[in-house]
Amino acid sequence: MRQKKEKENGKNRLNFMMIRLFLVFINTQFLKDTFKHQGLRKQLVSILKNKGINDKFVLDAIQNIPRHLFMDSSFLDHAYQDKAFPIGADQTISQPYTVAFQTELLKVNKGNKILEIGTGSGYQSAVLCELGARVYSIERQLELFKKTKLFLPKLGYRPKQLIFGDGYKGLTEQAPFDGIIVTAGAPFVPKPLLSQLRLGGRLVIPVGDKVQVMTLIIRKGVKQFEKHEFGDFRFVPLLEDKN
Ligand code: SAH
Repeated sequence: MRQKKEKENGKNRLNFMMIRLFLVFINTQFLKDTFKHQGLRKQLVSILKNKGINDKFVLDAIQNIPRHLFMDSSFLDHAYQDKAFPIGADQTISQPYTVAFQTELLKVNKGNKILEIGTGSGYQSAVLCELGARVYSIERQLELFKKTKLFLPKLGYRPKQLIFGDGYKGLTEQAPFDGIIVTAGAPFVPKPLLSQLRLGGRLVIPVGDKVQVMTLIIRKGVKQFEKHEFGDFRFVPLLEDKN
């Protein structure tokens, strides 16, 4: 009787080990980053340089991050073109140029506390992590929030906090922030985001309905804000409430 039980336990353990091995195999296949991918990223970085991105740390981040792993496998070939792509739940991973442009405007220093609105695929969060920021990021789509929360640590990116919530409200309990970056098109600048900036802090936000003007707002005093505008971009809309 006892022998039978031990035999069964042994069998179960073996099965369990096989399943684990299988999962590790699947994971390594899925999380592949080859020389070919790295080469394609090098080309992408030079395209971004030609388009005017010159912050070395931002370019290095883009060189380091395997963007193809943030997309569905069917989009593998497109990952290193300078284009936005669908990531499910009717959302997109932003165009690399847009990510680089916004990140450059944000002027991230190591250790800065940064709030991102619109986690999406997590690619922008990964860029911020590469720059050494303490990253807080809010996503309103439950499906994307769950997927990205599981995915980022697999690549070694550990934002301080990923939040399922409404970015219009910001994140009062963690304010003030050195920088806030909004990665969806906002019809107007949400007041809570302004009040959650520290003095000298920077808000980078695309403002507009169908087309958005990339806007940088710097907090100069308690009620004093300086605004700069940087041309037209196209984003998916910043929607109210979570979903
Ligand atoms: N930063 C993302 C870009 C995703 S697109 C990336 O690198 O992949 C914009 C994201 O903003 C979408 O995932 C969308 O669901 C999210 N979003 C839209 N309105 C929001 C809101 N009010 N609060 C939080 N996230 C929002």
